[in-house]
Order: sequence, then C-alpha cells, then structure tokens
Amino acid sequence: MISRRLVPPVPDDAGPLHALRSEVRTFLFEQRMAGRITPRVDSWVTGWDEQFTRALAARGWLGMTVPIEYGGHGRSHLERFVVTEELLAAGAPVAAHWIADRQIVPSLLKYGSETQKRSYLPAIARGECFFAIGMSEPDSGSDLASVRTKATQVDGGWQITGTKVWTSGAHRADAFICLSRTSPVDPCRRHEGLSQFIVELKSPGVDIRPIVSMSGRHHFNEVILDDVFVADAMVFGSIGDGWRQVTSELGYERSGPERFLSTFPLLAKTAEQMFHGAVPRHPDLGRYVARLAGLHQMSLAVAGALERGESADTAAAVVKVLGTATEGDIAEFVDLLTELPEDAAYRALVEESVLQRPGFTLRGGTNEVLRGVIARGLGMR
Ligand SMILES: Cc1cc2nc3c(=O)[nH]c(=O)nc-3n(C[C@H](O)[C@H](O)[C@H](O)COP(=O)(O)OP(=O)(O)OC[C@H]3O[C@@H](n4cnc5c(N)ncnc54)[C@H](O)[C@@H]3O)c2cc1C
Repeated sequence: MISRRLVPPVPDDAGPLHALRSEVRTFLFEQRMAGRITPRVDSWVTGWDEQFTRALAARGWLGMTVPIEYGGHGRSHLERFVVTEELLAAGAPVAAHWIADRQIVPSLLKYGSETQKRSYLPAIARGECFFAIGMSEPDSGSDLASVRTKATQVDGGWQITGTKVWTSGAHRADAFICLSRTSPVDPCRRHEGLSQFIVELKSPGVDIRPIVSMSGRHHFNEVILDDVFVADAMVFGSIGDGWRQVTSELGYERSGPERFLSTFPLLAKTAEQMFHGAVPRHPDLGRYVARLAGLHQMSLAVAGALERGESADTAAAVVKVLGTATEGDIAEFVDLLTELPEDAAYRALVEESVLQRPGFTLRGGTNEVLRGVIARGLGMR
C-alpha cells in the first residue's frame, strides 16, 4: 500500500492519447516554423503570450476538463496531461493561462458557486481570463496558516486588508483567489478561521507593486489590499473552510509536468548540440533522459488518480521533490558542460535556466516542507 501512495497505478498512455499527442506536436512544429514561438525554459512562468493562449483556446486546448455546459470541452485529466506535457517540452509560452487552467479550473469546479462557474469558466476556456495566486505573505510562506490578511464582514460582502507577496503575474492577471483570515487565530486550531475570496485585481483599494528580480525581470509582485470590498457572491467555497480548499488546490499545483519539464528545452537542445559535436559528449545526458522518463510515468500516475477522483497528495509531493531537483540538476549539468555557447539561442536557454533555477524547489511549497508532507502521508510522523 505504501508504494501505491508513492506512485498510484499508471494509466495506459495509448490509443487516442497518442493521436492527441501527435496533433499537439504538429501544431507546435507549425507554430515554430512560422516563427510564432521560440522554445524557452520555464515557459509556464516567464512565457506570457496572450495571442498564443488564444490559439490554444481555438484548438480546444484550454479548459479541457471543464464540462461543455460551462464553456469547456468535457475532456479527461489524462488528455489535458498530454497537451500540457507537449507544450512544456516544446518550451511554448503558456504563462498567461497557466494558473487559471491548472488550478483555478479544478477549484472552481469543486468549490465555486454557480454564478462563479458561469462567469469565469467560459472566459478561461476562451483564453480571455487570467488568474494569479494570492497565498504567500511577507511573513507567511511555508506556514500558510499564519496569514494575516484579514477579511471583515460588512453590509453585502467583505472588506479585505493585507499584503500578499511573490504574486506571479498579478500585474497582468484579472483576478486572484485570496486566502484571508475571517476569525481570530485559535492557537490550538490554527488552520481554522481561514477563507478564500475571488478578488478582481482592478478593484478599488488594490495596489500592485512590481518586485524586480536580480535578473531585471518583472514577474513577481507585492499586492496590497486596503479595505477592498468583495461582494458575498465572490466568497469562494465556504467561510472558514479556506485551509481544506487551499490544500486541495495545492494537489493540482504540485504534480503536473511543469514540475519536471521546466528545463527540458535546454536538455533537448543539448542533445542536438552533442549530436553536432558542438558540446562534448557526456553520459549524464542519458541519465537525465532516464530520470525524466521515470518522472513522466509518476506524473501520469497522479493524473490518473485525479481522473479516478482519488486523493494523490503524497504522490504529488514526491513528483514535485524529485522533479524540481531534476530540473535544477539539468541546468547545472549543462552550465558546467558548456562555456558560454556561441549559438545565441542555446546560450539564452543556458543563462535563463541558471537564473530561474533557485525558484524551482521553492515555488508551490519548498522541497524541505514537502519531504515532511511525504513523511506524514506515509505515516512516519
Ligand atoms: C518562482 C516563484 C513563484 C511564486 N509564485 C507565487 C504566487 O504566484 N503566489 C504565491 O502566493 N506565492 C508564490 N510564491 C511563493 C512561494 O510559495 C513561497 O516562496 C514558498 O511557499 C516558501 O515560502 P517563503 O519564501 O516564505 O519561505 P519560508 O517559508 O520562510 O522558508 C524559508 C526556508 O525555511 C525552510 N522551512 C520552512 N518551514 C520548514 C519546515 N517546517 N521544515 C523544514 N524546513 C522549513 C524552507 O524550506 C525554506 O528553505 C512563488 C515563489 C517562487 C520562487
């Protein structure tokens, strides 16, 4: 049973899934040939391209698991897995819709009210509505139960005050789901008294300030909420149930192919460069390909568990720990193997991988904390 908790049964990636995989590959090849996309690393975080997002939507590859009555395509988690895996392997610019499609869709389907589903799901599937994540705060990262953003009930809704930080893409997104405290902390039950709200980021009282990283990029933000009014209709799920909701959202956030494919375009390009003799041959290339093949199976196994409606939190944490370590190891392997390559596109992939690397094991929950989650899932603590 322990092995099943670590890796659920792997579904068969055959038949229709192969056909879908080929269809996505052909589309991506055409996009590359037309010069519409250039492979990049960490494309799900840094590749914001709304035109490309709409091209995917036109193919039916956004909101794939959203039921047809809510403007989606009624397809399976496994089909979505195949599409996202191919997009990431190609380094396609998917950041604009990534958060909405990955975790807001399943959360809305699980906890959203009818009004919320009808207002957001069709727009997400059309590639016209983008979301950010409003969890972390200046003094609350790993220990999310300590969030201090406070929501106070007022006539017709709630007033929210507090500061969120490291909010990826908030300066371009339409809304975020904000984790807030709705009753004072009870030291014996710290996970109670938390609630989630859908906050439109253009609402009065929302101030989005850029956090520019050492590389000069603007990706993160600090989001300051000063008495922001949120109508009752935008309470997400149930008041007081925020912790349970947030942890189920994190299951979707941790297990997908973006947790092991962020540097795949670099590895693919390195294989090509080795083939042409532009970089020295090295047996570790094969070792990384083998690690990624194993991670593909493990991540597919989690997608299969989600399809069957099973909880896969421990298995998702295992994918994230092993996958994000592999992404970073690939960046380091290629960085040590090459010395500022002459090929400009290749050099950009190497430099970007090295710059982005520190975030791989932090975002979505640090690997130290996830090891604790795995230990708990296996009954060891
Ligand atoms: C690229 C990137 C994008 C992000 N995007 C978002 C976003 O869009 N929205 C959002 O809300 N957040 C976002 N984050 C924030 C991210 O979720 C937090 O950085 C993460 O949860 C860690 O929190 P922290 O930075 O406060 O570190 P801390 O929690 O302060 O941890 C500091 C160190 O202590 C260790 N540590 C802490 N507690 C334990 C423990 N119990 N056991 C062992 N070790 C422990 C950690 O592993 C870490 O090494 C993003 C982060 C990155 C890097």
